[in-house]
Amino acid sequence: MNQFELDTTNSEETSQFAAKLAGYLKPGDVIALEGDLGAGKTTFTKGLAKGLEIKKTVNSPTFTIIKEYKGKLPLYHMDVYRVADAFEDLGFDEYFEGDGVTVVEWAHLIEEQLPSERLTIFLYREEGDKRKMVLTPTGERYEHLCKEIFR
Ligand code: ADP
Ligand code: MG
Repeated sequence: MNQFELDTTNSEETSQFAAKLAGYLKPGDVIALEGDLGAGKTTFTKGLAKGLEIKKTVNSPTFTIIKEYKGKLPLYHMDVYRVADAFEDLGFDEYFEGDGVTVVEWAHLIEEQLPSERLTIFLYREEGDKRKMVLTPTGERYEHLCKEIFR
């Protein structure tokens, strides 16, 4: 499997990379974010939102599970940490297949409902403000996308 790694030394760098990635996205793209609490999933999403020229403040949708934002492309921001049943159908499909970009924090918790083709990004907390990002694309579209970004 293709893997692409990137180290960041502060939240701004994580945000900037996400903003850059946003420039490559198109409607129907799905990004799965994995990593412990405080790893930077929401920080990443905020950067991506900036890249999509979303003006509203993006906050963690922990209690609402899904939040929608209008931008160059719509952003569907999910945080499924509190989804009690991995199989419960909360209408995720309509977002995955919608006209926007979907970002899912804690995506593995709804693994069975995720599209098989997606860009999974693992964020690992290292010492201080350092983070390691590992991008694992599944499907040709996302593999190509990663190659473009890391070229
Ligand atoms: P999560 O959504 O994964 O729980 P958050 O993005 O909410 O994580 O929190 C990450 C915290 O770590 C923020 O306070 C952010 O400013 C801080 N941080 C420090 N360094 C980094 C970095 N390199 N990348 C992302 N966040 C960082
Ligand atoms: Mg979060």
